[in-house]
Amino acid sequence: MRVRSRGSWVDRQLRDRGIRDERVLAAMERVPREVFVPEASRELAYEDAALPLACGQTISQPYVVALICRSLALTGAERVLDVGTGSGYQAAVLAELAREVHSIERIPELAERARAALEEAGYARVDVHVGDGTLGLPEFAPYGGIAVAAAAPEVPPALWDQLGEGARIAVPVGTPQLQELRVLERAGGGARLLESVPVRFVPLLGEQGYS
Ligand code: SAH
Repeated sequence: MRVRSRGSWVDRQLRDRGIRDERVLAAMERVPREVFVPEASRELAYEDAALPLACGQTISQPYVVALICRSLALTGAERVLDVGTGSGYQAAVLAELAREVHSIERIPELAERARAALEEAGYARVDVHVGDGTLGLPEFAPYGGIAVAAAAPEVPPALWDQLGEGARIAVPVGTPQLQELRVLERAGGGARLLESVPVRFVPLLGEQGYS
């Protein structure tokens, strides 16, 4: 594995493109992405690209993972919710940035593989749940941050309800073809829009997502 070159890909793909949060850059450097990438595309693990997973899903591009993680402004003390576990990669990066991570995936086979990868990479403390992430995980709410890795027609109300005061949610909102990553902060009962960046994700399928 090209472990030695991790530092330079972080500079090239993230720092040079405006990700300046040192905690996020260090987290991205520490997580071994190759563990989360399927065998067949391992040599592409540190490329600037989304890569295919089983079940027609994708592991997000590193830049997008960094963008989401940065936008939550985590301090290390939070309990966070990661919706759309996929490979488990984003959950691992979040585990470097927060105290407690709950990740939810609707496809049991992906959740199972993600659990194994998280354990192999040293993130066994990430709690992977199987279920409809559009409904969140009310039993562990409120969250100090929520990261959604699939596109929704609107911010799922259940997720908004589970967000703590002053905390942020990052969610791609739009049509199945084109979305904006919206970053919203819950402030005084209202929502403050902090960021909106064009992105492309697989659809969030579920009760408060696409049917
Ligand atoms: N964060 C992932 C990216 C996964 S792609 C990574 O780092 O690899 C998005 C994932 O969201 C897919 O695995 C898809 O199955 C899942 N997904 C879609 N709708 C969902 C829902 N309602 N609840 C939970 N997971 C969902």
